[in-house]
Amino acid sequence: LPTEFQQAKPIIDTIEAAGYEAYFVGGSVRDTILGKPIHDVDIATSAFPAEVKGLFKRTVDTGIEHGTVMILDHGQGYETTTFRTESGYQDFRRPDQVTFVRSLKEDLKRRDFTINALAMRANGEVIDLFDGLQDMDAGVLRAVGVAEDRFHEDALRMMRAVRFASQLGFTIESETAQAITDNAALLTKIAVERTRVEWEKLLMGHDPVRGLQSLVATELYRYMPHMADQKAMLQTIMALPAWQLPTINSTWTFLVWAMDLQDSTDIRSLLKDWKTSNELIDHVTAAWKALNALKQRGQLTASELFDTGLPALTTANTVANLFGFGQAQADMDAAYAALPIQDKHALAVNGGDLIKQQIVTPGPQMGQILQQLLTAVVTGQVKNEVPALTELARMIADTKND
Ligand code: ATP
Ligand code: MG
Repeated sequence: LPTEFQQAKPIIDTIEAAGYEAYFVGGSVRDTILGKPIHDVDIATSAFPAEVKGLFKRTVDTGIEHGTVMILDHGQGYETTTFRTESGYQDFRRPDQVTFVRSLKEDLKRRDFTINALAMRANGEVIDLFDGLQDMDAGVLRAVGVAEDRFHEDALRMMRAVRFASQLGFTIESETAQAITDNAALLTKIAVERTRVEWEKLLMGHDPVRGLQSLVATELYRYMPHMADQKAMLQTIMALPAWQLPTINSTWTFLVWAMDLQDSTDIRSLLKDWKTSNELIDHVTAAWKALNALKQRGQLTASELFDTGLPALTTANTVANLFGFGQAQADMDAAYAALPIQDKHALAVNGGDLIKQQIVTPGPQMGQILQQLLTAVVTGQVKNEVPALTELARMIADTKND
């Protein structure tokens, strides 16, 4: 058992000692069997939420209406969810009703793919009611039950299929793939934020080209924001030499570059429609500007390096390298480190100093002068020292006042 399971074992032991069943389930079981690192340990139990809460000292109702209780008695919190069935799904995304049940099989049946429908006892024994182990060996993603029905219940599962294809390097079994093709348009029923998470995971997966192949083959991409007319772009990125995207920022920068957007307004509206954060929009916009400069001139000026900042520069260079025009990251780091200053707060004088010296009065002019001083320092025209900067500030102020 991985250490994460060892640590959570007392929880299962406690629930079992009280006469209920409890198992590790979901992605953590799948990843353990695949020998991959696991992120979240999910426990499923026959005990009802009130019964679970009665067995532990410290619990939090993190999703009590779906049967999820967080148990804090053993180190970090562990989420425990009561076996349940789901029904309704009139909106193609969420069940109208959740019913708690005592049967593991019923709970595993509602899960999306056979490899995600495995359970593991605290002693490591695997319970495989839907031939998930066989599919895992064969590298196959297969819907549990009738694929068509499962995607009608929850259209997000189609995105999860292509995402897992990329993360695991698996093939989508043909009936499951056909059901995605037939129901792709249902993706528009899903909240963009949820689609986005799967899209980012697909692009950051180990085998993104495999995920993209499924996305194109099933035409699922046509129902993603701004993607309907992007088939050629997808084919272009699928043909690039093997690539891997390390961060969400680089993922969106990569896409924006591949889409050949013409200005930052287009970037903004794309990312707004994907409901990304403003922080991400700013980062991608800065990286995109640096990419344009890199593409045109192969290197960046001191001002461009400074204005972009190291995080977005790193993103830009990562993406430039995927498209064949980047630099060694160490060279870019060195160029940045060689700037006279890396941060505007490192300027040897500030607004207060200029006021004390009676060079300026508070107001917009002060900001302009500070900006000019900054540019002069960054580009090496003046040393970042008080006398030199004071003198330059005075000259600029005098010219402005003339
Ligand atoms: P990850 O490694 O990204 O966490 P995961 O498979 O664990 O992947 P989670 O969203 O953490 O994904 O879900 C945990 C488990 O819950 C899944 O393995 C699956 O059994 C079930 N599950 C999650 N989302 C769905 C869904 N949309 N439909 C059916 N079952 C789902
Ligand atoms: Mg998970």
